[in-house]
Amino acid sequence: TDAHLSAIEKARVLNAFVMETPDQARAMAREADAKIGKGDAGPLAGIPLGIKDLFATKGVRTTACSKILGNFVPTYESTVTSQLWRDGAVMLGKLNNDEFAMGSANETSCFGPVGNPWRREGSNTTLVPGGSSGGSASAVAALLCMGATATDTGGSIRQPAAFTATVGIKPTYGRCSRWGIVAFASSLDQAGPIARSVRDSAMLLRSMAGHDPKDTTSVDIAVPDYEAAIGKSVKGMKIGIPKEYRLDGMPAEIEKLWTEGAAWLKAAGAELVEVSLPHTKYALPAYYIVAPAEASSNLARYDGVRYGLREQGKNIIELYENTRAEGFGAEVRRRVMIGTYVLSAGYYDAYYLRAQKVRTLIKKDFEDCFAKGVDAILTPATPSAAFGIGEKGGADPVEMYLNDIFTVTVNMAGLPGIAVPAGKDAQGLPLGLQLIGRPFEEETLFSLGEVIE
Ligand code: GLN
Repeated sequence: TDAHLSAIEKARVLNAFVMETPDQARAMAREADAKIGKGDAGPLAGIPLGIKDLFATKGVRTTACSKILGNFVPTYESTVTSQLWRDGAVMLGKLNNDEFAMGSANETSCFGPVGNPWRREGSNTTLVPGGSSGGSASAVAALLCMGATATDTGGSIRQPAAFTATVGIKPTYGRCSRWGIVAFASSLDQAGPIARSVRDSAMLLRSMAGHDPKDTTSVDIAVPDYEAAIGKSVKGMKIGIPKEYRLDGMPAEIEKLWTEGAAWLKAAGAELVEVSLPHTKYALPAYYIVAPAEASSNLARYDGVRYGLREQGKNIIELYENTRAEGFGAEVRRRVMIGTYVLSAGYYDAYYLRAQKVRTLIKKDFEDCFAKGVDAILTPATPSAAFGIGEKGGADPVEMYLNDIFTVTVNMAGLPGIAVPAGKDAQGLPLGLQLIGRPFEEETLFSLGEVIE
């Protein structure tokens, strides 16, 4: 814990942590030491972690990196983090993220952008760590914590993991409780870890997962010993390679990595099959209707009355308007506008309802594939390596949305997906591959992920 606290201090330039909690960390570490001494240590005793600022932490400011929650100190702890503390983990502090987890570059945070510890060979340009869990990925990659919590609504665990050579798993929807996590799009949001290795991710997910009566969408299925899946033979497993993911204009190095990854799995005894997920091309547009729709509804609670920032106004409507105009950043306001538009009378059928139907078709594509005996699907994690801060999405937000092309389908279908570091591009930047599994079969992803790692 001390080593990590001093590493955090030296790496403040990365802006990965938005709040450091050294006193709390040392107290938790001492408690873990005492338990180890007594022989009743939990599986994560003394492991120092960073917590994405979307997880409510009792008595510790939790902002979702939004000005509107700038002074919010929860009186309760999220289920996921309380399970980590139950198992002995130590909290080092809270990690930067895109405001309300809306973004793919960690550039929408009210605390400013996060730096990626990786650089292009021979260049000093600061690159983004991806988003929205950019602080989590950067902190893990820079060895500021041994692991971090993160959330994934459309790729926010897997894309930053791929940009930083870390491992990120988004478990099946319902695997982790969403209780106490700031909501973005409730039918898509899932918590998961970002860690230094597949094994570390397995250990962390085991503590984070599990049924919680406080979240009605959390599923009552036993959490397996994920670590036992590491090193398990993948012989005879059927790996689907979806032809629709072979995009026009995909960089040759991503294509090459994908082929190599498939070859590694084959060499380990898996069988490769080409599969078709015909509705893939509709996933991104449908996601960018469903996610903002749910966000506009979830964010209605930030009215200046119950939480956080309050701006004054001549009457209650003005108070709401002034608070929300002042408290939300540009990307969040954009999402609220898109969301209320697609849900409004007259447009609901044309946009929201249609997007929901597309979502069902996307889910069915995967079901058909799994029904043919496919155990997991291998794809690239991202369409490119990390890019420079401010390099993308400035004039055209859709340019940023295109980053999520390989990851959003997984959230739309509620499936588990893992991003594993697999290689580097010509400039020495990390690239990741993604494995998508059957519902509640995260173990398969850990076994296969370890082969690629
Ligand atoms: N980049 C996607 C978005 O901005 C996904 C973000 C996420 O997974 N939280 O909506």
